[in-house]
Amino acid sequence: MKLIDLHADTITAMYYDNTNWQVEQEFILEKPILNLDKNNLHIDLDKLKQADSLAQFFVCWLNLKACEKYNITAWDLFVKQYNALQNELNKYPEQIQFVRNIEEMNKAHQNNKISAFTCIEEGACIDNLDKLVIAKQMGVKYITIVWNYESHIAVPAAVNQAIGLKKFGFDMVEEMQNLDILVDVSHLSDEGVRDILSIAKKPIIASHSNARALCSHRRNLTDELIPQIANNGGVIGVNCYPSFLDDNESIIKINNMVRHVRHIYNLAGENTIAIGNDFDGFHSKQPQLDEIKHIGDMPKLKDALLNDGFTYQQVEKFFSKNVLRILI
Ligand SMILES: [Zn+2]
Repeated sequence: MKLIDLHADTITAMYYDNTNWQVEQEFILEKPILNLDKNNLHIDLDKLKQADSLAQFFVCWLNLKACEKYNITAWDLFVKQYNALQNELNKYPEQIQFVRNIEEMNKAHQNNKISAFTCIEEGACIDNLDKLVIAKQMGVKYITIVWNYESHIAVPAAVNQAIGLKKFGFDMVEEMQNLDILVDVSHLSDEGVRDILSIAKKPIIASHSNARALCSHRRNLTDELIPQIANNGGVIGVNCYPSFLDDNESIIKINNMVRHVRHIYNLAGENTIAIGNDFDGFHSKQPQLDEIKHIGDMPKLKDALLNDGFTYQQVEKFFSKNVLRILI
C-alpha cells in the first residue's frame, strides 16, 4: 500500500550530530554528516522503499532562535535548506526525485522513483506576500504558519492558545490559498486554527498533529477543531512522536497510533486522516522499544489498522488518497 508521509525533518537531522542534539547546533548547514541513501535516522532511501513510499514531504524547518544566533534571515535559512535538499536528492536520481505537483509525482512514479515534496515549517520567513510567489515557484507545497515562537503572523500553541492570527497572518493565509500553497495549522494556537477556518476557502492541513482528548500535549487538536477541519475538507496527519501519543508513555506504541486514528475517524470520518509522522523531528528515549522504529515499519501500522476493523479502502485513504485529494 502506497504511503505519503506529510512531515519529516530528515534534512535538518542530516546536518548535525544526532547523538548530541542541542538547539544551538541546529543549522549551520555547511556539509551533511549523514546521507539520504543509508543512515541511522528514521528516513533513508532503503526505509522509504520498505514503506512503499509514493511521496515524502521533506520539511525546511526554520528555527528563529538559530537564525538570530547565526545572524541569518529566516528566508535565507529556508533557501539554504532548500538547496541542501536539492543537493541531496540529486545524488540519487535513479531512486528519488524532487517534484512540485501531482503531474510530476505521477511521472516520477511511472519511472519507479519516489517523489520528494518540500514545505516550510515556520511561516516567519514570509515577510511580504511576494515571497509566497517565489516559494510557490520553488515548489513549496505547504507552509506551517508558525513553529513554537510568536511571529508577525500568529501566536503558536506553545505561547498562548487564546490568541490567534495577526493582520499579516490573515493576508498571508488568503494569498497562500490563492496560490494553492496549503496552509498547515500544526503548532498554531487553538484560536489561530479558528481564525484560519473562519476565512479558509480551500482545505487546510494539520501536517503532524494528534488528538488532545487522548494525549494532552498542547500541540494536539481539540475535539472542537477536528470536525471543523473535516468540514473544511482538510486533512490531519497523525504523528508518531511519543509525546503526542500518550501522556504516560515514552515509546512509540502502534496501538496508540491506532487509538488516535480511531478517535479522529469517529469525530471526522474517513476523509480527514493522513500520516505525518514527524520522523527525524524527535529523538526516542528508548528506540529499541519503539514498535515503529522508522518509516520502513509503516506497513505494521497498516496491518494494525486493518486488524482494528478499518477497511483496506479506508486505510488506503489514510496512507495516501486523502492527501492526493487536496494536493495540486
Ligand atoms: Zn513540528
